[in-house]
Amino acid sequence: MNILFMGPPGAGKGTQAERIVDQFAVPHISTGDAFRLAMKQGTPMGQKAKEFVDQGLLVPDEITNGIVRDRLLQDDCSKGFLLDGFPRTLQQAEALDSMLADMGRSIDHVVNLKVDRGLLLARLTGRRICKSCGSTYHVMFNPPKQEGVCDKCEGELYQRSDDTEEKVGTRLDEYISKTAPLLAYYEGKSQLREVDGEQDIDVVTAEIVSVLRGSR
Ligand SMILES: [Zn+2]
Repeated sequence: MNILFMGPPGAGKGTQAERIVDQFAVPHISTGDAFRLAMKQGTPMGQKAKEFVDQGLLVPDEITNGIVRDRLLQDDCSKGFLLDGFPRTLQQAEALDSMLADMGRSIDHVVNLKVDRGLLLARLTGRRICKSCGSTYHVMFNPPKQEGVCDKCEGELYQRSDDTEEKVGTRLDEYISKTAPLLAYYEGKSQLREVDGEQDIDVVTAEIVSVLRGSR
């Protein structure tokens, strides 16, 4: 089973991916991990990537694609994989299709977790951190007993500047505009499976499983 996972930050993609790889016994491949591994092992692609990373430059697509290809060719992917964080652009999606075709394979399902922008904003902007001890809270999901005060040390809670509505909103809008063409691409190939990510976490998992088993 060859699976792609898509979904905006805050949609719960990581949690669901972990659950799905357990159930379907395929490796979870995130591009970040694949990069770190290739650079650590010093593969030819890893070495090329490192030159760019060391200079603080964006790694060109052909190297990113090469790292993904090398990873997909490893033994543990022989029965399938769950790819997360790649492709990010239409060009990468086309490259992925052609490298899979070279391997005599193709994508079975592109799972897209859908969550309303307003809810994502609420999830992503609710984090609060203690100034004194670093404990983290969430105003909706894990609130402190007293607003703005740490349960453990009574320190003052603050919001990281990256978590403000303005910053998070910009991040979400960038994600949405970048991935819209990708979703259309997979929709056109009848590979896109939309799953409502606003439901209870176990319900979302169950729905993804039935999608992957072809029973929805
Ligand atoms: Zn504290």
